[in-house]
Amino acid sequence: MNQSFAPEPDHVTELRRQLSRWVAEKMPREKRREWDRAHTWDRDLFRELAAMGLIGLTIPEDYGGQGEDIYAAAAVIEELCQGGPSMAGPFIHAAFYGGLNISENGSPEQKEALLPKLARGEMFLCYGLSEPNVGGDLPAVETRVRREGDEIVINGAKRWCTGADWSDYIYCLCRSEGEAAERHGNLTFVLVPTDAPGVSMQPLEHANLRYTLSMDVFLDEVRLPESAIVGGPAKWNKGWQMLAGRALDVEKIEITAVTYGLARAALEEAWAYAQERVQFGKPIGKHQAVAHKLVTARTKLAACRHMLYHAAWLAGLGHPCSAETAMAKLYVADTGLEIALACQQVIGAYGLSDAYDIERNVRDLMGMPIVGGSSDMQKNNLARMWRL
Ligand SMILES: Cc1cc2nc3c(=O)[nH]c(=O)nc-3n(C[C@H](O)[C@H](O)[C@H](O)COP(=O)(O)OP(=O)(O)OC[C@H]3O[C@@H](n4cnc5c(N)ncnc54)[C@H](O)[C@@H]3O)c2cc1C
Repeated sequence: MNQSFAPEPDHVTELRRQLSRWVAEKMPREKRREWDRAHTWDRDLFRELAAMGLIGLTIPEDYGGQGEDIYAAAAVIEELCQGGPSMAGPFIHAAFYGGLNISENGSPEQKEALLPKLARGEMFLCYGLSEPNVGGDLPAVETRVRREGDEIVINGAKRWCTGADWSDYIYCLCRSEGEAAERHGNLTFVLVPTDAPGVSMQPLEHANLRYTLSMDVFLDEVRLPESAIVGGPAKWNKGWQMLAGRALDVEKIEITAVTYGLARAALEEAWAYAQERVQFGKPIGKHQAVAHKLVTARTKLAACRHMLYHAAWLAGLGHPCSAETAMAKLYVADTGLEIALACQQVIGAYGLSDAYDIERNVRDLMGMPIVGGSSDMQKNNLARMWRL
């Protein structure tokens, strides 16, 4: 696709100004460090964020949202990430895992029941895709759902179900009973209430994105009404279309916005440090080796920004953007990590302490080429799209 894109809309510029002030005031470095150590996020702060109406950026006005504005939602994530992932995380659980998926794929009843609460920031969804034996190969999920009269019954285990301990529903990918022509043909998404009988969980320790703990979730004869099928009973065996459709493209934008936001924060910190830290009689930024590192990082960051917002702009217009979102996810994840590692070198020994954000930004960015469809998987998908 050869379309280029226009200057940033004024309302997004204004949103950035507002959020950048809010992040500086409400998410100072000592708080960010505390939240990271405790794997947690601040409920009161999230309520403030929700009161600004930001969750509604993925939700139609008829359901209490602002009307879908993917570009603005990506900018919100980027700005929140200037304070680390601890507000961007819950924002994504409400606006994307919840708002976007239910707006795209929910039944009329599910939209009616969930979207207004999601838009107000009173409800969260988490993703139940990965399993102990299933990572990138999602159509191989082993969690099974069977029909019994007008009920469904789920058995299995989900791994890395981030935020399951505070989310209201798991957006859960299951293998539906019954014969299917091919392996994508008997997958069904179910909205599993996290407090349903038969659901249990235990935490998984991890080094990155510590706005929360991730969870191992066990589903033991979890019995739900058929209306818990995402999209309603008619969407039985239609899970793959939901997973591979527009929601997946937008999901890649959301993860890429986190990556870009964290990489930008890393560069801004290293840039300022290079101007303040004096060695051999001058700021280290005046030593050519350091200046080159930072200039290269800034150039790569600009390329990342273009890829992210070009993909977001296409998605917002409703244009096909599977290739652009996959390229952005691939390039920004790999490059964001490179940028952060270069910035860590510039900050020297302090880059390995928690006196600066860079140590956390590196940990957070290490995961980006893995989560949400690894870089290898993006390359496979692009090779397939381009019929290589
Ligand atoms: C902090 C964190 C939070 C997470 N949150 C969630 C969540 O909320 N919900 C959820 O469902 N999941 C979540 N995940 C899981 C994440 O989405 C998976 O880690 C990701 O999908 C990759 O799966 P895997 O790690 O099992 O890798 P695997 O799929 O086992 O792959 C291992 C390696 O082999 C490579 N590989 C595999 N197959 C191929 C192939 N065909 N061609 C080339 N290379 C290949 C991969 O690129 C990777 O490098 C989370 C993970 C982390 C670390």
